[in-house]
Amino acid sequence: MALRTGDQYREGQSKIKHNLYINGNKVENLQDNPNTKTVLDANVKVFDLGLESQYDEIMNVVSPLIGGKVSRNVHPSHSAKDLEMRAEMAVLTSQKLGTCNYRCPGCDAMHATASATYEMDQKLNTEYHKRFIEWLKYIQKNDLAVSGGVMDVKGPRNLRPGEGDPDHYLRIAEKRPDGIVLRGARMHQSGAYAADETLLVPGVSPRPGEEPYAVACAVKNSQEGITYIAQYNAMSAEREFMGDNSKLGNPTYGQRETCLIVFDNVFVPWERVFMCGETEYAHKILLRFAKQHRMACGGSCKAGFIDLIIGATQVLTEYLGLDKAPAIRQQITEMIKVREISYGLAIAAAYRGEEEPKGSGFYLPNDTFGNAAKLNTCDGFWEVMKWAGDIAGGFTVTMPSEKELENPVTKPLVEKYLKTNASAKDRMRMTRFLQNWIAGLHGVGTWHGAGPRQNQMIMLYRDTDLEQKKQMAKALAELKD
Ligand SMILES: Cc1cc2nc3c(=O)[nH]c(=O)nc-3n(C[C@H](O)[C@H](O)[C@H](O)COP(=O)(O)OP(=O)(O)OC[C@H]3O[C@@H](n4cnc5c(N)ncnc54)[C@H](O)[C@@H]3O)c2cc1C
Repeated sequence: MALRTGDQYREGQSKIKHNLYINGNKVENLQDNPNTKTVLDANVKVFDLGLESQYDEIMNVVSPLIGGKVSRNVHPSHSAKDLEMRAEMAVLTSQKLGTCNYRCPGCDAMHATASATYEMDQKLNTEYHKRFIEWLKYIQKNDLAVSGGVMDVKGPRNLRPGEGDPDHYLRIAEKRPDGIVLRGARMHQSGAYAADETLLVPGVSPRPGEEPYAVACAVKNSQEGITYIAQYNAMSAEREFMGDNSKLGNPTYGQRETCLIVFDNVFVPWERVFMCGETEYAHKILLRFAKQHRMACGGSCKAGFIDLIIGATQVLTEYLGLDKAPAIRQQITEMIKVREISYGLAIAAAYRGEEEPKGSGFYLPNDTFGNAAKLNTCDGFWEVMKWAGDIAGGFTVTMPSEKELENPVTKPLVEKYLKTNASAKDRMRMTRFLQNWIAGLHGVGTWHGAGPRQNQMIMLYRDTDLEQKKQMAKALAELKD
């Protein structure tokens, strides 16, 4: 099959009997619930972007595995140029959706799995890479949407896997002649209930003795034993209550939707198992996922989000008559600075990407630049929100509902008192869009997605050659050892 259209993807999802719960209610058809529908619509948009000729180089690539054009979302990079386009895809989809490209973590898990399984087959004489490539060819041929399942629920963070509830980290509960049985759960799973499949890779570095936790495999949406429990919050309730989405901050694509996935004795046949107990390689797969995801999700994706925040803020400066004020221009410039550093570092990470391991044909980005990109995003996104909120004023959180414009009593009052250089309606619409970014879920989401700040701090310190820097300083200071 060639690249699928958004409608073909939507039709495929309508055939799945989803085992999904949201706010205590079961949803079997994603189209039926206003919150789960946003994920469906976002995925439809990503499929359709792939069919627009001006985005072809960014969104698609010729697969060396099947020889035809495939979505970049299901393509582990084979060159530094590929990595650069992967980063550009993250910018583009963020700009077009204002939410996740929900196929992004799956794409990055493919990068890590391709690289680590290659090494395993070389060094351990296993068949994991062969199996992974066969599975990937099937995914590419059918242009399937794959989510990436990494993060365990973990329970008390001071306990090792297996020390507390054994199911708090996803584990192999049983090995059978025909496959494995999975137990446990993964949380914060972006858009997983609207994917065709989920690629699961280790979210922890298990030590010898913790082999059941070293597992990588692929599962199908809602296969027997899998339950999805969707996130739910005030914004979800508002979308249900409002009825008319046009008055919400991001009318079509909504917030970033995630879920908890529970695996209750889920059978996975051997041909879909890509790691089974090899603790040393679980560590490698996790590190390689982080390396890839910090460039794409931590760096370039958030540059796209920041573009939208800057755009909305600039519109509001004009509505409020602030656009010529020097201090305001300076604040917009601070926002641009954060954006360009994250973007620049993500692109640098791609340019400095290398084949890993050598001879595999698979490329991963430079770790230091990727970590620096994500670290800049962690700190910088809050800065951006701060400046945007400052410029848009308290109205960002005190504004009434746009529905007042449909009430004959309040309409003339709102129109008179809330207009600026723009009509009350336009001002309210754009302010609501900004509210979605700066007074919603994105601050914490952006901090934790691709790992919290401390993870990048540890990696940057570990990967920096401080001894070399000491020697440089001592040499110039003419200080003898
Ligand atoms: C919007 C969003 C989308 C996401 N999408 C996905 C996805 O699609 N797939 C996926 O697999 N994951 C996804 N994630 C998960 C993301 O990677 C995690 O949220 C992140 O790694 C942090 O994990 P946590 O939320 O469990 O927080 P924790 O790990 O509990 O961290 C909380 C704090 O505790 C600290 N901490 C944790 N453990 C220790 C320890 N042992 N010692 C000292 N300090 C510690 C951390 O540094 C941090 O400061 C997503 C997250 C978000 C918010």
